[in-house]
Amino acid sequence: MTSRGWAACALAAVLVVLAVFAALSIPWHRPPAPRADQLAALRELPADQVARARAFHSALRPGSYGAMAIGLAGALLLGLTPLGARLVSLVGRPFAGNWLAEAVLGGLAVVLVVEIVTLPFSAWGHTVVVRYGISTQSWGAWAVDLLKSYAVGAVIGGLALLGFYAVVHFAPRWWWAVGALGAAALVVLLSFVLPVLVEPVFNKFTPMAGGPLRTELIALAARDGVPVRDVLVADASRRTRAVNAYVSGLGPTRRIVVYDTMLTEATPDEVVSVVAHELGHAKDNDVLTGTVIGALGTAAAVIALFLLGAWGGLLRLAGVGSIGEPRGIGLLIAVATLAGLAAGPAQAFVSRRIEARADEHALVLTGDPATFEAMQRRLGTVNLSDPDPPTWEYLMSASHPSTAERMAAARAYGRGDR
Ligand SMILES: [Zn+2]
Repeated sequence: MTSRGWAACALAAVLVVLAVFAALSIPWHRPPAPRADQLAALRELPADQVARARAFHSALRPGSYGAMAIGLAGALLLGLTPLGARLVSLVGRPFAGNWLAEAVLGGLAVVLVVEIVTLPFSAWGHTVVVRYGISTQSWGAWAVDLLKSYAVGAVIGGLALLGFYAVVHFAPRWWWAVGALGAAALVVLLSFVLPVLVEPVFNKFTPMAGGPLRTELIALAARDGVPVRDVLVADASRRTRAVNAYVSGLGPTRRIVVYDTMLTEATPDEVVSVVAHELGHAKDNDVLTGTVIGALGTAAAVIALFLLGAWGGLLRLAGVGSIGEPRGIGLLIAVATLAGLAAGPAQAFVSRRIEARADEHALVLTGDPATFEAMQRRLGTVNLSDPDPPTWEYLMSASHPSTAERMAAARAYGRGDR
């Protein structure tokens, strides 16, 4: 069998493993709470507050969809015309067309161009979140965050480009196999190191100060069978008024993080409810699930790219001889951008089901649906969430059930229906 034949078999095998893993690890059968409960919850929200949240999201849309459209157009222009290949050659010229310089510097240049064309839309988005009082950042602080994220992206992206094109260079026929394994390993490695290497670039994390709340949270975790050494508090207030909490990391790097804004905006009981939700993620190993799905998906994508490289028409459009040469990075980015957009709704669906399971965990663990509902209402109010977003937008991108769904789930649980 040829390398191509093996690649097709490997792709099929990875997709089967991915499907089986997803079928077993994702709580598919968790439909949203009854619509009647959602509507009842919605009716109790102050009308002016709902109107303000909807106005906020309307104001954000042109920026976010504009960025999506122009980013896609930029990626297609660089990938499906010879422009991307020319840019890589240009960047490689001072290095006499050295493949390593083309791979890393040329690759980063193409990514940077796609980033820069979306920059005006990000800036527009910043004016909206400032106008609505969500962001507390000056332009200077916003620019510093942007430069930091470019720097982090350049380091991670540079290493990925270096690794990928080195594998292609030294194993031109079998790069898909090494590349798939390497890309999957990179996804796992990033899950481990992001909380300790990347998150501290943007925020300071300090263990929650001793007191009744901390004691209660540690006891809650112990009761749940998810012992945690500490609950970390992030200094999110340096950039936002929004409240949030999350779990990140794997094994020794796993941590539960609460925004400092949560501690000033929410009652201690509501913080307990939020942490109970996060403990649900920890107990169900949701970060690990996401990492495994991400690793398998990335491996499949690398093999699919190799197979796509046989499509002569595509290579001619991009003006390259092979999909594995550094000058073809624009084509890779164009394909990855399209695949990412297509996978978005499925990712959002899976995320909503996992979030609904963590919500149910919080309800069972605290046995306090009233506080859970109050907490959801608080999150929605402070963060200006649309409590019942338009269906198309919800299906396309909502990572969490809507505020109405989450309040309704608490009501149904309180009645003993769930
Ligand atoms: Zn969650």
